[in-house]
Amino acid sequence: MSDLACDVVIVGAGPTGLSAARRLKAEGREVLVLEARDRVGGRTWTDRIDGQMYEIGGQWISPDQSALLELVDELGKETYQRHRDGDSVYIAPDGTRTVYSGDMFPVGESTQTEMERLITQLDELAARIGPTAPWEAEDAAELDSVSFHHWLRQQSHDDLACANIGMFIAGGMLTKPATAFSALQAILMAASAGSFSNLIDDHFILDRRVVGGMQSVSEQMAEELGEGVVHLSSPVRTIEWSDDRVVVGTDTMTVRAGHAIVAVPPNLYSRITYTPHLPRLQQIFHQHQSMGLVIKVHATYPTPFWREDGLCGTGFGAGQLVQEVYDNTNHGEDQGTLVGFISDVNADAMFALDEHTRKQHILESLADFLGPKALDPSVFYLSDFGAEEWTRGAYATSYDLGGLHRWGRFQNDPVGPIHFASSDIAAHGYQHVDGAIRIGRDTAEKILSA
Ligand code: FAD
Repeated sequence: MSDLACDVVIVGAGPTGLSAARRLKAEGREVLVLEARDRVGGRTWTDRIDGQMYEIGGQWISPDQSALLELVDELGKETYQRHRDGDSVYIAPDGTRTVYSGDMFPVGESTQTEMERLITQLDELAARIGPTAPWEAEDAAELDSVSFHHWLRQQSHDDLACANIGMFIAGGMLTKPATAFSALQAILMAASAGSFSNLIDDHFILDRRVVGGMQSVSEQMAEELGEGVVHLSSPVRTIEWSDDRVVVGTDTMTVRAGHAIVAVPPNLYSRITYTPHLPRLQQIFHQHQSMGLVIKVHATYPTPFWREDGLCGTGFGAGQLVQEVYDNTNHGEDQGTLVGFISDVNADAMFALDEHTRKQHILESLADFLGPKALDPSVFYLSDFGAEEWTRGAYATSYDLGGLHRWGRFQNDPVGPIHFASSDIAAHGYQHVDGAIRIGRDTAEKILSA
């Protein structure tokens, strides 16, 4: 058992933990980062599957994600735009496939008007309530006690308009059924991206990628911290704490420090044993932040065949197995890659099938959007963060109904020398790598100014 000491010990080498470590080290503080996995990057993970490079986790950067863009720039990395030339495909609930251009789904005139009205309403709410303290809004309790599904249907009798709008936040972002989270939680998601309109604009929200992969941002931060700072395969099991000291324990070492930053997703806080145990408030509300579930589908073909048909590769269908599909061809590659997303209950249904049947169902869903050539990929892979012990879902955690206005105001409070930080409790960039970089940096600032 080795016994180490430093100023700040950080639990988790995802983008949050590493950006905190980077900031603290720049100010001359001694840091150690303890990571459970045998790699850094957490929910960002760039890997090769059968020779093909895939972003298993987080990858896209939108233009407002300035903290991440600045970091990428400081690290000397390059970004590139997603391929977006050509028409998109929309599949209606009755299975009708329509090729369209522009932002608005090709739905009937009255549904279009209703969708536009809901978008305006959500934009106004996001602008008024903002991402920093949504629980302070005068109608926070009201908006937090109704599910997003039911709130939409209180605003509009057009079920298709509600389903299409609901998809962008339910399947598209929080990856839970729209009945499982509140309207306030949905508004936070929109506000954290600048507006609801930003969130539904795939040219905005899925704008750029990092050449070489998003995980390389974390790998480079870890490398720059220097030898012996990041300890891999070191799950933190215990934190003993007093007013001004922590002793953090793994299976093979103890680290004594003045502060700890627990930079893991909130659903994993309670996997650590705290002595003394955390206050009642934290013990209660840490139980109310849970992970969503989404399967990220990767399929690579000899060429991006959809481009020959005048399609950009984008497809939407709120009632489809794969609700969204995009061209995800890597920088500089001739082969074409598609990425699709299968969320919440549809993901449950897929995991209940055997591997062969699951693949068939998923490829058929891709083919419904982009034609029969989609049935025959050269490489096929499913990201399954639900099966990862040190994440347990995807993309991120959110509160259950009523939790955000009840406990959100406490989520960033330290307990003695223990600070909690994660993209899932960030304001701007909430649930995204940008939020992770911001909250990592801000938590470091709090410690520096203490
Ligand atoms: P994490 O990345 O989860 O890092 C936490 C780290 O803590 C992990 O390395 C974990 O192993 C470690 N850990 C956990 N428990 C312990 C313990 N007890 N001891 C030691 N270490 C521990 N974001 C975007 O911006 N754009 C996207 O396109 C995007 N797509 C996504 C797609 C998928 C499939 C997923 C899963 C996420 C996606 N995200 C995306 C979200 C983004 O990846 C996360 O917001 C970001 O990685 C969060 O960073 P973090 O450091 O807060 O947490």
